[in-house]
Amino acid sequence: MLETETTKEAERLMTICNACRYCEGICAVFPAMEIRSNFATGDLSYLANLCHNCGACFHDCQYAPPHEFGVNVPKTFAKLRRESYEAYTWPAFLGPLFRSNGVAVCLLSGLGFVLILGITLLMNEPAALFQAHTDAGSFYAIMPHNVMATLFGSVFLFAIFAIIMGVRNFWRATGENETPLADPPSLTQALHDTFTLKYLDGGGGGCSTGTDQPSPWRKRFHHATFYGFLLCFAATTTGTIYHYVFDWVAPYGYFSLPNIFGTVGGIGLLVGPAGLWWIKRKMNEEMAELSNRGMDMGFLALLFLTSLTGLLLMILRETPAMGTLLIIHLGVVMGLFLAFPYGKFVHGIYRFAALIRYAMERRRDLKHAPAE
Ligand code: SF4
Ligand code: SF4
Repeated sequence: MLETETTKEAERLMTICNACRYCEGICAVFPAMEIRSNFATGDLSYLANLCHNCGACFHDCQYAPPHEFGVNVPKTFAKLRRESYEAYTWPAFLGPLFRSNGVAVCLLSGLGFVLILGITLLMNEPAALFQAHTDAGSFYAIMPHNVMATLFGSVFLFAIFAIIMGVRNFWRATGENETPLADPPSLTQALHDTFTLKYLDGGGGGCSTGTDQPSPWRKRFHHATFYGFLLCFAATTTGTIYHYVFDWVAPYGYFSLPNIFGTVGGIGLLVGPAGLWWIKRKMNEEMAELSNRGMDMGFLALLFLTSLTGLLLMILRETPAMGTLLIIHLGVVMGLFLAFPYGKFVHGIYRFAALIRYAMERRRDLKHAPAE
């Protein structure tokens, strides 16, 4: 990653914080900072991706604006995170999609929708889209299973590959030479910190993104989004197993595993993104990086729409609205898949990588600490 105005500002802040150290117990950023005396751009992007934007260090800081030092770690790190996504993106020429990311996500969603609509219209008489289908395999009367699986499977695999390449660039830039697979205890620790969203408690009591009063709601909405997403993924995976292993054809019964996972996960993906949207709207503008708003809101909107259209499709699947809803739902999901490597989704992956790196260097640090 090249030096930018943001990396210079982050370096200035880390130099002040390293002398002050008042916030060292709040989150992982400050202990990671303290074992460094210099901050290369790779170190700074690592620290920025460790930050959960909880706001605690902004409200606690005696050097925050209007102090002449103007220390504002959450805002600077939020900007630096977005710059790091751009710098490490694969392929590199798509990095600028992170600059006006709200627009980029809208365009990718539009592309996904047009692609699905075009393929469906090529395969069906328009009237077929407005008929009720009540038999097993009704979805595949609109789009054959093989076409759906090939289309979504190939875009999903590309997205996963692009994300892996991006996070590999990030990992190398942080200066870490070891692979996480060589350090299972650190990997386990990072998984624990990720699944519990450990650092979203602002050092205790929750995030203080709106006022200086900590609140647990940001963490709760993050949990709803995160687990909602995982359950929806579990719904797709069990559906695939039903199809290929048991030869059972969708749509499945209301009390089948894919539907239970999809319904509970879908509710999480309605509540979580809506709650995070509400919290972002109320965020203290002094510590918010407003140029990230399009990226943040675009991703939340895509998750919300994916869930809303999926749940409506499940409820109305035996009515004449099924064909239209299926096209809209598949179009939104295609937009989500296309935007995975080039939108806010990557923040979860980069943060997980940063937490692994943190666990690895903490273990090394403890090993080399002098015995008491
Ligand atoms: S954010 Fe402020 S109070 Fe906290 S360590 Fe940095 S300079 Fe000190
Ligand atoms: S905003 Fe929260 S997570 Fe980020 S550096 Fe400050 S205390 Fe740590």
